[in-house]
Amino acid sequence: MKIPKSHPRHESLRTRELIAEGVENGITSIHGLIAHGRGEAFDYLLREKTHGFAKKSLEAAAAMLLAAKHPVISVNGNAAALVPKELAELSGLINAPLEVNIFHPSKQREIKIKNHLEKHGAKNVLLPSKKYNIKYLKSNRKYVNLEGILKADVVFVPLEDGDRTEALAKNGKKVIAIDLNPLSRTSQKATITIVDNITRSIPLLVNITRQYKKYNKYKLNIIIKNHYNKKILNEAIKKIRNL
Ligand code: ATP
Repeated sequence: MKIPKSHPRHESLRTRELIAEGVENGITSIHGLIAHGRGEAFDYLLREKTHGFAKKSLEAAAAMLLAAKHPVISVNGNAAALVPKELAELSGLINAPLEVNIFHPSKQREIKIKNHLEKHGAKNVLLPSKKYNIKYLKSNRKYVNLEGILKADVVFVPLEDGDRTEALAKNGKKVIAIDLNPLSRTSQKATITIVDNITRSIPLLVNITRQYKKYNKYKLNIIIKNHYNKKILNEAIKKIRNL
């Protein structure tokens, strides 16, 4: 459906269309619609814009991804439907694989997500293998790829559930998450939380990462050290409370 640019809720409707299309094409699970709805509610409370606290997290995230030895970008059905081109671009910029990871087991859907990312320019997409798993997680999301999440030191999870964020952290990984809900367990457990809509923040992350590519490890580490996640989350909660 074509939504006129002049529509006051153009961006929100465009995003809904992408998610609905994702479900129709077998990329996004039907449960993904509910997760998206929860995100929309928080985005409304955040006035549907990228705030200063999210920009600070994006800077720390870019620095952490560039300083990592083995960064990996974990992709679920919602992220693949909303920002496939930008995820492919980020993957190329930081030389990190995209690894498909979904909650509801379906080999067919995993392959569809991989194909969709490749269609949008991704060069390195991994699928999880039943041979390898991370500890402290029972769901299908425990399965990982040997060359991806298993050996990663930093895992970027744009859209995640709290269980997996916590399990990744317990497995010794640094976790960067995007979540519009600053109260979620994902937000609370991640090393760096970007409280913003994935559709606005991934393009910004691509730009910042491109700029920071010229920084040396020392400079990147200073940016990472100066990030206080609890402070960022408190700023986001305050913004919602002061409506
Ligand atoms: P948790 O398990 O972390 O406590 P949850 O149970 O609310 O959180 P899910 O229902 O698994 O999490 O996933 C939905 C989460 O994703 C919500 O917190 C929602 O705010 C977030 N979300 C959904 N769509 C977007 C989006 N486009 N951009 C950023 N965050 C989003």
